[in-house]
Amino acid sequence: MHRTHTCGELRIQDAGKTVTLSGWVQKSRDLGGMTFIDVRDRYGITQLTFDSDDDLSLRGRARELGREYVIKVTGTVIERSSKNNKIATGDIEIKVTELAILNSAKLPPFTIEDQTDGGEDIRMKYRYLDIRRNPIKENLLFRHKVSQEVRNYLSALDFCEVETPYLIKSTPEGARDFVVPSRMNAGQFYALPQSPQTFKQLLMVAGMDKYFQIVKCFRDEDLRADRQPEFTQIDCEMSFVEQEDVLRTFEGLTRHLLMSIHGINIEEFPRMTYQEAMRDYGNDKPDIRFGMKFGELNQASQHRDFSIFNTAELVVGIAVPGAAAYTRKQIDELIEWVKRPQVGASGMVYAKYNADGSFKSSVDKFYDNQDLQKWAEITGANPGDLILILSGPTAQTRSQLSALRMELGNRLGLRKPDEFAPLWVIDFPLLEWDEEAGRFHAMHHPFTSPKTEDIPLLETDPGSVRANAYDLVLNGNEIGGGSIRIHDRHTQSLMFEHLGFSETEAEEQFGFLMNAFQYGAPPHGGLAFGLDRLTAILGGQETIRDFIAFPKNNAGRDVMIDAPSPLSPEQLLELNINLEPTK
Ligand code: ASP
Repeated sequence: MHRTHTCGELRIQDAGKTVTLSGWVQKSRDLGGMTFIDVRDRYGITQLTFDSDDDLSLRGRARELGREYVIKVTGTVIERSSKNNKIATGDIEIKVTELAILNSAKLPPFTIEDQTDGGEDIRMKYRYLDIRRNPIKENLLFRHKVSQEVRNYLSALDFCEVETPYLIKSTPEGARDFVVPSRMNAGQFYALPQSPQTFKQLLMVAGMDKYFQIVKCFRDEDLRADRQPEFTQIDCEMSFVEQEDVLRTFEGLTRHLLMSIHGINIEEFPRMTYQEAMRDYGNDKPDIRFGMKFGELNQASQHRDFSIFNTAELVVGIAVPGAAAYTRKQIDELIEWVKRPQVGASGMVYAKYNADGSFKSSVDKFYDNQDLQKWAEITGANPGDLILILSGPTAQTRSQLSALRMELGNRLGLRKPDEFAPLWVIDFPLLEWDEEAGRFHAMHHPFTSPKTEDIPLLETDPGSVRANAYDLVLNGNEIGGGSIRIHDRHTQSLMFEHLGFSETEAEEQFGFLMNAFQYGAPPHGGLAFGLDRLTAILGGQETIRDFIAFPKNNAGRDVMIDAPSPLSPEQLLELNINLEPTK
């Protein structure tokens, strides 16, 4: 037998028992006539003792154990004379009578400690060692708990987990597909799903009624920080529902997660329209844990001779709490910050609303106290606050001020990781203009239904058509998104037409779905959560990589197995892929 207990299990009540433990050598030390070894497994650490009264060869062998050796020991549980209250087994130790080395180990390239000396690259290359460390191990266990709570909650509501295929057909809509050559069909390719979207809709046509799946999705996008080419969704779909039913169901799931994991009860999630989110936060995934709401200042600023504001489409400001005391240097640093190319503002106006009620601004030449008082009212500034103002084209200016707001939220410690502020953003636009392609794209995806009352606008003002689409936002991150779907062939064709598909193209790419719609498709809708991000945020962190067992790096590579990698000429031949030699 390899073990009677785990390394995290034994307590003072177990004193006197003869036990067998197996695990890895965390560390060993000699003290006087004794050798101490800490043995570790997933469950914890137990101290082993080998004293000089023992048969010397046993202690001698113990002294030779290296870090991370795999050992099995048998011995008696005894009370420790000096207890360690930092670990659960800290009241006891094992007086060892038998020691077996199950495997030796090379010296690990970084320390297997909570705070390791290993950098990101080396940790990724030896991820199996990294996972032995508590923080990563705990994250994986945490992720399991989140998944399990999701499965419990949805199963209790009669959702059925159904697997959908990974080898599917490539479609040009959405992000770029990862493709897989088909050996048996020369010159043809499968695509890996960007999401099971069409399959879950077909499951609704098939009468499955409530579906979910914790599923890998694949998108061949240019990698941004903290994006993974393969990621996991909690994908869900329901039949005979309206938007309200979907929101209620998944608000319930999110509430259940917050309660079961953190014991936090959030009554009702606020809702905000896309328009409101953009107007008040410049962002469709606002972090509402803190204020600094946008105040639009066009009316209150375009009546003077300040041409920068007068010619701007939008003049908008935020009040930074307590920042009126900022020095010139601190303000200049913020101005430089918004002028960085990543943010892209050309300048920034500020107005100090001093604690004594007086004002001092960078545009005192143009605006009097009454004007500044008005700005304070609109931005919600109190005495002691600093008003920061950007101006320019609406979309651009909003996104710049939003970046500044988030930066200040971070700097001022207003984005507390243990505080959770979910909300729904609803009424997203159906279509989004794509400058480059010179046509509209579906903002969510082409299966999203327009709001019935907005359908006539498709002909006259497609950009203003609202969709039955919604996002669930948590702490400034989109953690889920979905929509009520189109479920009739006619509306679906109309949608494809507006997206610039010819009838043949629509038929070729989505004929299977349009056909299915002719066989009694129920009204349906759903959403998908990003499990990696959801887990990270619930875990109070923002890096999803730490919650994925074997993540890819920023260049989309798995540095442990060294993928992607070239194929042999024989394999390529078999796959009918002719690679021209690179010149
Ligand atoms: N399939 C969608 C996505 O991946 C989610 C949904 O509409 O349910 O974003």
